[in-house]
Amino acid sequence: MELTVNDYKSNVKPIWCPGCGDYAVLNALLRAFAQLQLDPARTVVASGIGCSSRFPAFVKTYGIHGVHGRPLPLATGIKLANPDLTVVAVGGDGDGFSIGGGHFPHAARRNIDLVYIVMDNSIYGMTKGQPSPTSPEELKTKASPYGTLEEPLNPIMMALAYDATFVACAFSGQLKEMIELFVQALQHPGFAFIQVLSPCVTFHNTYDLYRNNVRPLPAEHDPADKLSALKLALETEVQYTGLFYRNASRPAYSQLQRQLIEQAGRKTLEDIFNAYKP
Ligand code: SF4
Ligand code: MG
Repeated sequence: MELTVNDYKSNVKPIWCPGCGDYAVLNALLRAFAQLQLDPARTVVASGIGCSSRFPAFVKTYGIHGVHGRPLPLATGIKLANPDLTVVAVGGDGDGFSIGGGHFPHAARRNIDLVYIVMDNSIYGMTKGQPSPTSPEELKTKASPYGTLEEPLNPIMMALAYDATFVACAFSGQLKEMIELFVQALQHPGFAFIQVLSPCVTFHNTYDLYRNNVRPLPAEHDPADKLSALKLALETEVQYTGLFYRNASRPAYSQLQRQLIEQAGRKTLEDIFNAYKP
């Protein structure tokens, strides 16, 4: 029987503020699941802490709402324990680039076969609007009344530098494009990172800014060309959305892990003891 979007929706109603960009992200992911007919019993969504990290409660798959900054270690452990599962890690910009920022490079360089969606609103929403690692310079908040002094991180540049094998950017105001990117990410055999520009209407409403600045990546951009992806990620006049980079030829970590287990399994106990003999 064909599964519909409702089959992936839990009966817990999201409690995000009306207009929050995260509604569109939830909607897009549920549609991508339905499009791929993923088995809810073999799909897991793992999150950290923050407004966007409430996500697993609203999805009728397996899920875990973990601790702050740790969606990637959780998702990595789940994938390595059972490589046949589809695993999605979700969280916000503070969770993923500050509190848990150390996990991002390692999940990417290991090419763990999972999808990592960061709902980037450039603010700490849940704790009432402090500047986050992607807040623009000079952003005034209650915690930075004279404006922030730091430059924001560039998550697309980071993912490319960490050698993530799938790097994309979507915008909550463009549902169709976001669903398409989620479908591609779920099909990618390796670490798929998607930055979603997902405005916080309550503490840092960037809808108008993105509507004016967001552009699809140039049609001539080839996602196999990393240098071109890096140049486009450096663009400051506009914010590009779409697939910056994809490399489907690098083996995923779970594939290498399987080979290692097979190789190690061929050894007898005696072989192992002999290796430690003087
Ligand atoms: Fe969304 Fe901001 Fe409200 Fe949090 S505070 S639910 S991020 S609009
Ligand atoms: Mg945030």
